[in-house]
Amino acid sequence: MAPIDSATSPRAVQDRALIGGRWRMALDGRVIEVRNPATDELVARVPRLGATEATQAVDAASAAFPTWRALTGAERSRILRRFFDLIMRDEMRLARLMTIEEGKPLSEARGEIAYAAGFVEWSAEEAKRVYGETIPASSRDKRILIMRQPVGVTAAITPWNFPAAMVTRKLAPALATGCTMIVKAASATPLTALALAELAVEAGIPAGVVNVLTGDAREISDALLSDSRVRAISFTGSTEVGKTLMAKAARHVTKIELELGGHAPLLVFDDANLDVAVAGTVATKFRNAGQTCICANRIYVQSGIYDRFAEALSVAVRSLRVGDGLDEGVQIGPLIDDAGMAKVEEHIADAVGKGARVRVGGHRVPPQPSLADRFFAPTVIEGTTTEMRINSEETFGPVAPLVRFESEADAVAMANDTPYGLAAYFFTRDASRLMRVAEALEYGIVGANDALPSIPQAPFGGMKESGLGREGGKYAMDLFLETKYVSWALEPTE
Ligand code: NAP
Repeated sequence: MAPIDSATSPRAVQDRALIGGRWRMALDGRVIEVRNPATDELVARVPRLGATEATQAVDAASAAFPTWRALTGAERSRILRRFFDLIMRDEMRLARLMTIEEGKPLSEARGEIAYAAGFVEWSAEEAKRVYGETIPASSRDKRILIMRQPVGVTAAITPWNFPAAMVTRKLAPALATGCTMIVKAASATPLTALALAELAVEAGIPAGVVNVLTGDAREISDALLSDSRVRAISFTGSTEVGKTLMAKAARHVTKIELELGGHAPLLVFDDANLDVAVAGTVATKFRNAGQTCICANRIYVQSGIYDRFAEALSVAVRSLRVGDGLDEGVQIGPLIDDAGMAKVEEHIADAVGKGARVRVGGHRVPPQPSLADRFFAPTVIEGTTTEMRINSEETFGPVAPLVRFESEADAVAMANDTPYGLAAYFFTRDASRLMRVAEALEYGIVGANDALPSIPQAPFGGMKESGLGREGGKYAMDLFLETKYVSWALEPTE
């Protein structure tokens, strides 16, 4: 094993964590094995860091903060722009790395790299526009100034299903505002995050401004949230973990943003364009093999279009190609792990046991030589009801459950009947209905005839138990900025 604190070429040490500009192993030498979910091959070993290294990262980020915040917005903007250019230069290399550790098809991985880079590009532009305000005072001899200042050291904890975009969606706005950051990458997919860290160094982001940790999630997050120097944390992951972090953030009243789980409804009204609705359903449901927080989870279809929609969707789903994401033309890769496979099977068994009918798929893809047993056949299941787990818990797999409905009011009521409120979709060509339903859905993101709404400049986040705060565009800056009010009394005139 290479020595601790070795400062050899970053390209040779992509399997180390970055703390204060140094590529580090764990102090006790512990590692996490990273495996390709499609083949089970061992891809890399990354350090299993803990509380001590997390505190060292906070030391590094604190030391780097005064210099980084002192740069002008334009200076930070130029550095971030270089970071963006480097990500796009290495788009294919990063996409391959992502497919190998996460499993998503290469074309999707490439799309995610461009999307991830988009947050860096947007933040580079926005770094120049962190404006304050002046407000008319209540008396003639006063001036009211509002300053927006970086909060200081910040932290991010990211999930495995978007190994690049969930990192840049947090890191880029933090850096743009003048904050420094410690990113704890997901253990299943740390390599993309470490490769991004390597490009951040190459872009000239100073040591300590970006720190990327791999390791024990609980130990690292406890250390970060016990340290009063960490002033904000952004988390993307499950609602369960998000709630525990929110409780821990109370200790030092650390600002917190939560991007949590979802259970997205998708409504197809009788007047929808059938082709658009089917293509949209396939796009949102089967992307990343159904392992996204904004995947459609419940598909409500109005009676008048139900039979045609169910048939067209079934034809489209049967044609999806499953396999190793590195193979040309593959549209559905493996699930991330065996627990993910088991959950999908449990949801289907529960639904069938309560009266649902599998129309397409519903089983594992038969084992193939050189591939792991981690591929699930794209599935359409009919006759699902609210009592079934599939219609209340995230399945995180390629399964589309259909529910028939009669009226708009029923559909909206069923769509909102959940503790989640991240994303919802609906398809209609009636403009009045479009506005009514968009207003009535209790979700942070609504796709109206649009199944792929995520873009860097729009606010991304959920209502209810799906989260707190928003990432994306100018909204992302709020977490990383303090608002300071300066009331200035002028000297009396002579
Ligand atoms: P997860 O288990 O909550 O893990 C997310 C991150 O939290 C990982 O870095 C994980 O580290 C860490 N973590 C796990 N247990 C922790 C603990 N006790 N304390 C502190 N950190 C902990 O979620 P996941 O399975 O990776 O991701 C899937 C979930 O994320 C789904 O619910 C999905 O809907 C949600 N998600 C939400 C959004 C959004 O924008 N709203 C986007 C993508 C995903 P390790 O990897 O080391 O365990």
